[in-house]
Order: sequence, then structure tokens, then C-alpha cells
Amino acid sequence: MRKCLICGKGSLEKAEDITLEIEGYVFIVKGERCTGCNEEIPYEEETQRTISVARKLGVWPEPMKLYRHLSKSGGGLVFRIPGDLEKQLRLDEKIQIAISKVGNKIVIEPEGR
Ligand SMILES: [Zn+2]
Repeated sequence: MRKCLICGKGSLEKAEDITLEIEGYVFIVKGERCTGCNEEIPYEEETQRTISVARKLGVWPEPMKLYRHLSKSGGGLVFRIPGDLEKQLRLDEKIQIAISKVGNKIVIEPEGR
């Protein structure tokens, strides 16, 4: 059993009743739930499936967590913006972004909108 990365105390157990609420639509997905803090982590493929369903309904899951890996490039870490967000926020390589650190979170904001 895997340890929870969020609280560091509980362990992750399989759950088949994780609810993802997206703009008033409720999706039930499979994933893992922490026995300590009750944080729910849907499986990546379930998340992707939910996103494609939500897209058909015309909603972008918000706020929903996407789990991504960073890749290494030129000695630094690179974060790839999901294509959906790129389109929705109309991002391109000319747009300057502001990166701020809020506690242990990283907030990326497109500038000049
Ligand atoms: Zn936890």
C-alpha cells in the first residue's frame, strides 16, 4: 500500500466512489483515497476519461487537479501546459507568464490579459 503524499501519515486505499464535481455535473470515478486525510486521488485514466466527457458537455473541469510529471531539459525542469488549458486560456509562446510561490504551491498566471 502506498503512503499518502499529502499528509504523509495515511495510506492510499482503492476507492470506487470518488466524486468529481465539474461545473455542477457529478462524475463518479475510481481512484485512491487516503485513510488519514481523506484526500481523493482519481486514477489518471479516469481523470482523462472524465475530462473528455466534460468536454463533450462543454465544461472544463475547474477546479480540478491534473497530475503531471515534470520533464528534464537542459539541466532544468520543464512543465508542459495541458493542451486544453492552452486553448482555453489562448496561450502561446509570446505570452509572458508570472510564476509565484504560494506556500508549497506554484501559481502560473498569463500576463497582459
Ligand atoms: Zn493523506
